Amino acid sequence: MVLLLLTPLAQATEADYHYAGQLVIDPDSGHIRADWQITVYDEAETAIKFVLRDTLGNIVIGGSGVASGGATREAGYENFWAINVELAEPAPFRVISLSYDGVLMPRPLSNRINAIEAGRIELSVDSFWFPIDVRFSKEFTADLVVRAGDGWQGVTTGEIRPVQDGLLIHNQDPRMDIVFTLSKSWHITEGEGFTVYDQRETREGTERVLASARFCRDFLNQRFGREDPLPTGSLLITDRPSSGYARENYIVLTDISNTEPAPLTRFVCHEFAHYWSTGAKFDTVDNWINEAFAEYIGMMAVREQLGDEAFDELRNKMQEQIAGRELPRVWAEGDTERGPYLVQYRKAPLLLAQLEESIGEETLIDWLQLYFANPEKTTTGLLAALETVAGADSRKHFEQMLEE
Ligand SMILES: [Zn+2]
Repeated sequence: MVLLLLTPLAQATEADYHYAGQLVIDPDSGHIRADWQITVYDEAETAIKFVLRDTLGNIVIGGSGVASGGATREAGYENFWAINVELAEPAPFRVISLSYDGVLMPRPLSNRINAIEAGRIELSVDSFWFPIDVRFSKEFTADLVVRAGDGWQGVTTGEIRPVQDGLLIHNQDPRMDIVFTLSKSWHITEGEGFTVYDQRETREGTERVLASARFCRDFLNQRFGREDPLPTGSLLITDRPSSGYARENYIVLTDISNTEPAPLTRFVCHEFAHYWSTGAKFDTVDNWINEAFAEYIGMMAVREQLGDEAFDELRNKMQEQIAGRELPRVWAEGDTERGPYLVQYRKAPLLLAQLEESIGEETLIDWLQLYFANPEKTTTGLLAALETVAGADSRKHFEQMLEE
């Protein structure tokens, strides 16, 4: 009952789960201890399988919403525990308690994104530091207290603020991740609508990041954010040579000291664009919509900011990347399987460029606005929206392009 009172009802309809917990980190040894109360909102759910990194142990499963549970090693889940939970009788809110501890990354992960170090702690679902529903399609809100000693500042997708002995992370928007970075030595720059957290020794390139972020925010809000503008963004600049990533308004850049303006704007606008370009099921064929539109919006932003030549150059480079390759079609009626990276991020955005040449930029934007506002996030829904703004012939033509 207590959880019911703490959880705004509006969220219950959107999120699949709420994670409330505490995470104690020892930065010197990399040891973590986590205690979770996971609320399950779906009354019809009978069993849930979570995965968790198997470097962790002492897993204890309990809670009023659990009939039985256990952690096992299963074929197909190398490096992970499979935590199988049978839920108790159907109820609107069922709670699973889960606790565990251990050294999360005895050896650094290959991309070095997730790390627990003396001056930096960066965690996301990629390290499986928290238990996640193996379907990878469930979204959750979170309230997490992180305790890692003194002197840390933190950034997350939601809000973060100091509490006694730690930092409280509050993620009100349902997401598929609980992601945050803590640092002891950030250089912080406040921009209008975003904040830059620079982890590098140098300030090289910071101005370009600010310029790209400013431009992207205005470009996107003017076109798609009149009623629902971008939330405040957090841009982290790391000293890593590669492996940037983003969760909408939380964007982690690699060392951008030498990055040119065009790829920078495309990257930042692509990630900001996901604020709207989202919702097509990410583990299905329809995920091409989420990615191709974010990518193409990034390209359009480059054209607006840096001119046709910069746009053509990006387009040619993308064309070269897929030239001569046997790639599957983007989509045809009945397809279910998610396409490869090059189809979603290269072939499909290039088709959008082609389509724009025939219907014009204005109609393309109208189409996107209509699709973003539409609850039906499928290729069929997208094609129907195209027919509405550009007519049946354009729809048919584009459908043929997707099938090639
Ligand atoms: Zn993307």
